[in-house]
Amino acid sequence: MKRFGNNIKGYSGETMDIAAVLSECTAAARARGWTIEEIHLPTRILGFSRRPTHNPQPAGRIYLSTGIHGDEPAGPLAMRELLQVDQWPSGLDMWLCPCLNPAGFALNHRENAEGVDLNLDYLIPKAAQTVSHIAWLMRQPGFDLCLCLHEDWESHGFYLYEQNPDEQPSLAEAIIARVAEVCPVDRSEIIEGRPARNGIIRPDLDPRTRPQWPEAFFLIMHKTRLSYTLEAPSDFPLSTRVSALVTAVNTALATFLNRRTRQASLEPR
Ligand SMILES: [Zn+2]
Repeated sequence: MKRFGNNIKGYSGETMDIAAVLSECTAAARARGWTIEEIHLPTRILGFSRRPTHNPQPAGRIYLSTGIHGDEPAGPLAMRELLQVDQWPSGLDMWLCPCLNPAGFALNHRENAEGVDLNLDYLIPKAAQTVSHIAWLMRQPGFDLCLCLHEDWESHGFYLYEQNPDEQPSLAEAIIARVAEVCPVDRSEIIEGRPARNGIIRPDLDPRTRPQWPEAFFLIMHKTRLSYTLEAPSDFPLSTRVSALVTAVNTALATFLNRRTRQASLEPR
């Protein structure tokens, strides 16, 4: 599979009707018993949660988010597919934000309507959307795993960032191996100015030293000890990028749960 070569100074591929996609996400979530909350009413940012285990100690608490950049349609489309297919591994409690920047999608640009890149706004939040999103996140319990779905219009294939400060067993290699079956992987040695290996970037940085925080930094500092930012390559067909993200999420959840179950069976009773 070759790159289109269409994206020259930014994303110029397919767009989508975000209002329609969100309505379909909401309809699927409602039909499957998710709790639906309005995180930021004026821009229609929604939070879904489902805790099917009714267990104070579920096998895992998982958070997924996407759509923080309004020129990355594959993320919300992947969320719609995941919600409609509804094949989540059992035993996991889930929290999900299907689109953190609907206003950006309406304008087909990265930032919100006021021109703020919301994914740089998580240290000292200025945008009302970020303030509301952080307040919502802080009302939820801690997460065992967070996945943030993105796209990169410059990349040669799928790649991911891993933040894993406690050196838990990594999910990265499993994700890359499965995604490689549906989408090219960017195997460059440098991606976005950072050293990479086989599509995996493990940033060696302390968020506390950084002046601007993406959502993933906020999550790792306040809500989780294991996070992946998944980057689909926007210079490939939209359907390929959606499958890459759906495959990455499904693989991450299945691998995570497998390891948890194995761990539990090894523990002394
Ligand atoms: Zn992005």
